[in-house]
Amino acid sequence: MKIAVAGTGYVGLVTAVCLAEKGNAVTCVDIDQGKIDLLSNGFSPIYEPQLEDLLKKNRESLTFVSHYQAAYMNADIIIIAVGTPERKDGSANLQYINEVAKQIAQTIEKDCVVVIKSTVPIGTNDKIEKLINENLRNAVSVDVVSNPEFLAQGSAVKDTLEASRIVLGVESKNAERAMKEMYKNFNIPYVVTDRHSAEMIKYAANDFLALKLSYINEIANLCEIVGANIEDVAKGMGMDPRIGDKFLQAGIGYGGSCFPKDTKALHWLANYNDYEIKTIKATIEVNENQKIKLIKKARKYFSSLDGLNIAVLGLTFKPGTDDLREAPSLTNIPIMLEDGANVKVWDPVGMDNFKKVFSHAVTYSQSIEEALTDADLCFIFTEWNQIKTLELEKYALLMKNPIIIDGRNCYSVEAAEAAGLTYESIGRKTVTTAITLKSN
Ligand code: NAD
Repeated sequence: MKIAVAGTGYVGLVTAVCLAEKGNAVTCVDIDQGKIDLLSNGFSPIYEPQLEDLLKKNRESLTFVSHYQAAYMNADIIIIAVGTPERKDGSANLQYINEVAKQIAQTIEKDCVVVIKSTVPIGTNDKIEKLINENLRNAVSVDVVSNPEFLAQGSAVKDTLEASRIVLGVESKNAERAMKEMYKNFNIPYVVTDRHSAEMIKYAANDFLALKLSYINEIANLCEIVGANIEDVAKGMGMDPRIGDKFLQAGIGYGGSCFPKDTKALHWLANYNDYEIKTIKATIEVNENQKIKLIKKARKYFSSLDGLNIAVLGLTFKPGTDDLREAPSLTNIPIMLEDGANVKVWDPVGMDNFKKVFSHAVTYSQSIEEALTDADLCFIFTEWNQIKTLELEKYALLMKNPIIIDGRNCYSVEAAEAAGLTYESIGRKTVTTAITLKSN
């Protein structure tokens, strides 16, 4: 089977590498020549555990090109995995996917299956099929299949190789057969349905996870007010198999390239169809407020952040990825800078991407210790292992004032207390110790 993948981002590249690992030859297309050059030399342009090793291992089965013609011309299956970012009004921007569809139509010389892996609003597969058919240069037939992706960044390779299900939205037996042939070595259960339902499964699943997070964050906020402990509450809830213990970690809100845009896109789609999906509307609102919760907590200790040395630990939207899209750090650091703070940041893999946005506005630290030295205040935005396993005494030793405002509940309250820290976290009691505040 000749397989082509359009887009070598988190989804496209991981899909291609995993398909190669399972015995397929795959040609990957990307308009970003820099990515193609790196990939052709065996390097991954993104950080994902296991990805670069598998890329190197399967080098013989993978080809990377920036010109799509040769890749699409005789392909049996073309997988579209380009971005569908958010537009200003919250709807999904389909310009990249439309572009690829036109390129396919202009190029293919034999019947093929076009697979839409990108997350797209319900009805998009139908529109893409129409667009391709209207622009076909040769007399060939095309089946369009919805095959949404459920991988999570930080565990994308594992999630693909050991996925819980493969959703296939198909309108023909031929398409279903081709997809099952492509996935034949994966040994993963299928959910076979129509295209609209497959498109809806993706949004409904993602938005449910976002909703679960906003729910636990609201419960955490109430825990702080009424004096309960969110960790114990979540544990007690999660042991109920009807609820499950996943996605019950309270924090400063979800980020990343999917939950924020996918909640807004479904909300937009509902509104567009004269329906208000209230649970998702609330999910979005709760998340927006949650993102700036740490700054509000900091203002309890300092009326202004002007002139303070602030250490920021963790920049990426979650551990295991270098992706900064919609990360809470991007919302909070500009507030600190506007207030006049001196911000020193540390992240094990996210600093290069951060430099592309913030350049010299902050100081980049090579170690956690360097970031903490002489800090008046420390914010934790990402629960990297290096942060979770740091000896807490270091905060007291290195900082001017050991005030830690932790958005990811990295430490137990008791340990923070024992280490003499002033420690704010989410949904748990605040630990205050005798601290000398800088007068400002
Ligand atoms: P990404 O931004 O990381 O990658 C998209 C890639 O497509 C880029 O490298 C870009 O250069 C390339 N591209 C754009 N136009 C192209 C064209 N005409 N031909 C070839 N390449 C082109 O995006 P991503 O995070 O991989 O997401 C892709 C889709 O998958 C989105 O719809 C997203 O919602 C969905 N998705 C993402 C995740 C995730 O965790 N990132 C998970 C599930 C689903």
